[in-house]
Parts: sequence; structure tokens; C-alpha cells
Amino acid sequence: MILLISDLHLEEQRPDITQAFLDLLTGRARTAKALYILGDFFEAWIGDDAMSPFQRSICQALRDLSDSGTEIFLMHGNRDFMLGQAFCKAAGCTLLNDPSVIPMNGEPVLLMHGDSLCTRDEAYMRLRRYLRHPLTLWILRHLPLRTRHKLARKLRSESRAQTRMKANDIVDVTPEEVPRIMSQYGVRTLIHGHTHRPAIHKLQVNDQTAQRIVLGDWDRQGWALQVDEQGFNLAAFDFVPHPSNA
Ligand code: MN
Repeated sequence: MILLISDLHLEEQRPDITQAFLDLLTGRARTAKALYILGDFFEAWIGDDAMSPFQRSICQALRDLSDSGTEIFLMHGNRDFMLGQAFCKAAGCTLLNDPSVIPMNGEPVLLMHGDSLCTRDEAYMRLRRYLRHPLTLWILRHLPLRTRHKLARKLRSESRAQTRMKANDIVDVTPEEVPRIMSQYGVRTLIHGHTHRPAIHKLQVNDQTAQRIVLGDWDRQGWALQVDEQGFNLAAFDFVPHPSNA
């Protein structure tokens, strides 16, 4: 059994989400062969050298799962694209390229965060190309911590303001982009997050039936996609209240 999640947006200010994630790690994920986290795992990440005690505790929880025998794969999202090898090594995770093709249930499956599918948002696509450029990343990693904190705050508030202003369809995936990239990678299943619109969409790719599975964001409830002999099962689950969070 394989589990896929995304868009937890983990932060210290949301102990309910954190607890639900820790419950998943010590519960269902223990019986999984692999756990895939498809981006925006953290609400913000300014560098592996600037881990807060909160982020360290998440790192250790991942490590415990990995030590128990579940493989963990991590893909960057637009919020945590600065997550690096030092974190992955400490957490026992493998960093995945976006996109990646991974065999699941005997078929190749395309995994993405999903932001690169929103091609109608031209301003964002330009910013993305700039931020992911190796030279930009090198400069960002070498900025003083205070400057990085400031930049991260600015990017987050701009992204929130922009998303509010933009038309609904611009911040969703471009419909034509989906069959195009699926055909390019020769897959009939695409799994991604980012849009916070969990669903399983049926479509045609090169005259064959195909599916696009959109993972849900964790806010009022959690979402996980379970892949096993029964197929692809996307389901939400409630956060179990813990007395310590009250
Ligand atoms: Mn995202």
C-alpha cells in the first residue's frame, strides 16, 4: 500500500494539522510501503540551516517513520521549494523531481506538485522560473536569515493577495495542459496537489481513458490518496481532537 498527501502547509500556528499528520505517521503510514508528500508540506521554508524547533520535530517524526521501514519521498511545492538535501538526509526522505514518473500498481504514474500546470497564470509562471533558477537559489541560500524571513513573508502575502484578485480559472490547471503532459510522459494517471480542489477527473489521453487525481489540502480535514490492489482511493478524514491542543 502506498500513501500520497500534499498541501499540509504545516506551521506552528496550526497544532491541529500537525497532530493529524503525526497521527498519520504513527498510524496508517507505518503499514505503507511508501509515503509520497507532493509539495507545500510546510507553509514556508527559508533554508535547511534555519530550522525552527517545530520544523526539527517534524523532521524527527519523518525520520522515525523512515527508520520503521516506510520509504518517504518528498517533492517541492511553491511554498517549500527551498527544502534541501540536508533536511531530506536528516528526515530519511528522498527528494523527487517535479515531475516524476513512478510505477504504482503496475502502471506508470506521473506525480507533480501542480503549480506548473497553471500556465494561464503567466505572472506566476515567470516568478516560478526565476525563483527555481539555480543562480537565484544559490543567492537565496546565502542571504542573511533576517532577509530570507522578510522575503518569505513578502512572497506569501503577495501570493495571497494575487490569488484573491485572479479569476477562479486562472489559478486552476489549464485544461489543455493536462493531456499534453500526460501524453508527453506516456501515462494514464496523473496525481497532483496545489489547487486545493480534491477530485478524481476522468479524461481522454490519445483516445484512451485516463484520470487526473487532485489531492486535497489539509485545513478543516485531512486528505490522503491510498493506492493498493483495490486501486486509487482518495478520501478525507477528520482531525481527531487531542486534549493537549484544546
Ligand atoms: Mn502549492
